[in-house]
Amino acid sequence: MTDKVLMVGAGLSGAVIGRRLAEAGHSVTVMDARDHVAGNCHTRRDPQTGVLVHVYGPHIFHTDDAEVWEYVNTFETFLPFKNRVKTTSQGAVYSLPINLHTINQFYGRTFRPEEARAFIETQADTSITDPQTFEDQALRFVGPDLYEAFFKGYTEKQWGCSPTELPASILKRLPVRFNYDDNYFFHRFQGMPEGGYTAMVERILDHPGIDVHLETAFDPADAGDWDHVFWSGPLDGFFGYELGRLGYRTLDFEEFRSTGDWQGCAVMNYGDRDIPYTRITEHKHFSPWESHEGSVLYREFSRECGPDDIPYYPIRLVAEKAMLGDYVARAKDQRNVTFVGRLGTYRYLDMDVTIREAMDTAAIWLEARQAGQPAPVFARDPL
Ligand SMILES: Cc1cc2nc3c(=O)[nH]c(=O)nc-3n(C[C@H](O)[C@H](O)[C@H](O)COP(=O)(O)OP(=O)(O)OC[C@H]3O[C@@H](n4cnc5c(N)ncnc54)[C@H](O)[C@@H]3O)c2cc1C
Repeated sequence: MTDKVLMVGAGLSGAVIGRRLAEAGHSVTVMDARDHVAGNCHTRRDPQTGVLVHVYGPHIFHTDDAEVWEYVNTFETFLPFKNRVKTTSQGAVYSLPINLHTINQFYGRTFRPEEARAFIETQADTSITDPQTFEDQALRFVGPDLYEAFFKGYTEKQWGCSPTELPASILKRLPVRFNYDDNYFFHRFQGMPEGGYTAMVERILDHPGIDVHLETAFDPADAGDWDHVFWSGPLDGFFGYELGRLGYRTLDFEEFRSTGDWQGCAVMNYGDRDIPYTRITEHKHFSPWESHEGSVLYREFSRECGPDDIPYYPIRLVAEKAMLGDYVARAKDQRNVTFVGRLGTYRYLDMDVTIREAMDTAAIWLEARQAGQPAPVFARDPL
């Protein structure tokens, strides 16, 4: 039997689940409040310069999941791209993540790997045996100098609070490399879609069983009109924020333009507290195979998310987790709704994880449907 299924959101979650269900013969409608598909990965050609702009902030594709890599390559050509981030701190430019080059430059030394490791151990605060906060953890790993230069100011700007208020778990692993590897990500597969993410998502949605409606906000009160609804909007938004708003950080992008090459790299972080933005993105560097005279850049500012702002990063501290638990309990009363994606499950999800979860969610839903079982409200526990 064909079900009439609605995807709320034309981001990666809605597109991938919608495609799988349409391929299985269901009738899929995709609605998005925005005037474009691809959600927060949306890329658009700037009409003036021709530069491909990452409209909601820089997105680099990286994964260890071979099936996800094959999936995205089915819909778009991915060209090799390594994210090599730089940071400006205390009047100098350094390589990130902190690596042997950063250490040697910062301390004016010529350490080899094991010498650098031994030296950093002398800097680390070994009196901290059970780090509880982000600050403890950073001091324990790298000591006060590198902490001040590379973590403290940046983290304060990004999260709007002192690193002493953030849990140690945010900085789980040793954030330092004792070699010259400056590739930001470790994953086996890394690249950029040649035509942008929006072109890729348009192709995912290009199926006779899928009907896309843009600039169409869905009201959860209408969920009963559909056999099933996949909701990739905000979890608290589905319930009209009745229990309060889950905390997010939002971003403001201040666009400016230039000619030629303004900063020489795609992403330049700013670690100092007195510079109000966290980073500058020069979009043309995400497509190094293209050539444009003009350049489009974003200064990125982070702040608390208000009711009319775009929610970007879930905060997930103790208070938010308690509220999340209450919303999850309410969601579990829903009969024909599955909450998906970064907003629907209130988690930070990279694109590859979003696609993996969307594929798995579609498979679970199709199996349940075939067995005549109720579909799960969450394919992954958001708590
Ligand atoms: C600043 C930033 C940088 C990132 N960089 C990277 C990166 O480098 N690499 C990486 O792998 N991942 C990155 N990500 C993560 C990536 O953006 C997500 O994995 C991806 O966007 C999740 O897709 P989604 O479909 O779940 O959600 P979204 O992309 O948010 O899509 C949800 C859609 O639902 C729509 N919607 C919501 N409510 C309604 C409603 N009531 N009616 C109709 N439509 C509605 C919204 O308009 C939106 O288009 C980054 C995220 C951020 C915030």
